[in-house]
Formats: sequence, structure tokens, C-alpha cells
Amino acid sequence: MELKILGSGGGEGYPALFCECEHCKAARKAGGKSLRSLSQTLIDGKLLIDLPAATHAHCLAGSFSLGHVEHLLITHTHADHYVPEILDTRGGGFAHNMAAKKLNIYGNKDVTRRFNGTFELFPIGKEIRESIVLHEVHAFEPFTAGEYKITPIKACHAFEEDALNYIIDNGKTALLYLVDSGYPYEETLEYLKSYGKKFGCVVMDATRGDAYYKGHMNFEENKKLKAYLLQEGMCDCTAKFVVTHITHNHAGTHEEVEKYFAGSGIIVAYDGCDVKF
Ligand SMILES: [Zn+2]
Ligand SMILES: [Zn+2]
Ligand SMILES: [Zn+2]
Repeated sequence: MELKILGSGGGEGYPALFCECEHCKAARKAGGKSLRSLSQTLIDGKLLIDLPAATHAHCLAGSFSLGHVEHLLITHTHADHYVPEILDTRGGGFAHNMAAKKLNIYGNKDVTRRFNGTFELFPIGKEIRESIVLHEVHAFEPFTAGEYKITPIKACHAFEEDALNYIIDNGKTALLYLVDSGYPYEETLEYLKSYGKKFGCVVMDATRGDAYYKGHMNFEENKKLKAYLLQEGMCDCTAKFVVTHITHNHAGTHEEVEKYFAGSGIIVAYDGCDVKF
């Protein structure tokens, strides 16, 4: 499996749109890997996780379109992960020769609610609407999306809704995608233990950096979770561990974050980075 982190920043992006803090100023000056867009990941070039407003910019940066994408997983409805408005150009006079006749969107009930609410206010073409299929999914109830077995798991995040993380399994290996989430609930860890397959890659939320508050992990917890997954046999020494969703409030430039994780075996994501496993 191959994943591409399209956006590695926290909710407001890094540097943040309206922010003049020292971290944002340093990131603008450093450029490159220190410039972090909104959270989105592409698996094997075809399975998409989340739909932020930055999706268009991600496609420009990577020189690809999304016309072939049939399956889209949504973790939760925070605006840095889900902006259904941008689907209004998927068809009609806005998109031609799409390989995917339908786009299947999987998420909690608020994903459907927000989709319907948005397009009630701003109607879209019938053809565009009918080519998008919404699937309400629930934690610990696996489903199939194309060649993948997908298992939603309970995220420790966005407590006003049922935020989800995902296990993405291609039959050979499995990705554990923990963005956004605080340190996983005991219930989630128990489920992971019983999953029956080792995870070849773990992508972790690192929003809290050097701080602590509920609903995101900090860097210490990233290391702790890696150690725990190895110790409990859920991953072996070949597994890749990646941190992403990094913010200006709790972390410095890419170079500084890499320095923090040096020697830990944890990869610090940046926009456009590829991880194969
Ligand atoms: Zn987020
Ligand atoms: Zn800032
Ligand atoms: Zn969030």
C-alpha cells in the first residue's frame, strides 16, 4: 500500500491564514516542508481520506485529478476535513470524462446531514447530486470499498459527533489512520488488539505537540502509542509510524519537529510525502 499525505497541517493550516505568531512567521520564511496544508490523504492514488477546502490546491500541487476516485472516507465534519460545497463541480459542465461514474462517501450521520443541508441552501445539478452516494458508517462495523476492507473505529475527537478513524486493509497489509484523535480510547485499543492482523503503517495525529488538551495527541503520546502497539504485537519492527496534523500553536518548523522525533523511528509528514509499506 502506498499513501500520500496531501496536507499535513492542523485545522487552521500552518502557517495559519490570519496568524502572525513567531512559528507562522518562521514557517513562511523557511518555506518547503514547513508549509502545511489542511488534512487529506490519498491511498494508492485512488482512495481518498477527507475533503478540505485545500483539495483543489492539493490536486494542483500533485498534478492529478479526482475524476477516477470512487471512494472517499470522511473522519468527521470539522471544516479542515470536510467541505462538501466543493463537490458542486463534480460533473455537469464542470468535469468531463470522469472514470468514476459514482463517488461513494462514507462517514458518520453528520456527514450526510451537512451534505444535505449544504445543497438544500445551494442546490446542485441533479446529475451531480445523483452521482454521489452517501453511506452512513459506524465504529467497529467493517464494510467494503472497492478492493479495500474498511473498518471505522472510534476516534477521541469532536465530541459533539461520532468522529471516526479508519483501518484500511487491502488483504495483504493494513493501515491504521488515527487523524483526528486524541490517544485512543481503551475500547478502541481493545478492538485493535483483536483485529487479527498487524498494522503495516500507523498515521498519528500530532496536533498538541508540546502541550496537552483532550481530543488530539501530543508528541509524547505519539511515542507512547508507538511503543504500546509494538509491545502488544499490533505492529512489528517493519511498521512505519507517521505523525501529521501539526500546528503552529504547539510546534516549530519541520526541521525542529524532525529534531524532536530524531531516533524515535517516527516519520514527520510533510505535504506531498509518500509512505510505502
Ligand atoms: Zn483536523
Ligand atoms: Zn501562528
Ligand atoms: Zn477535528
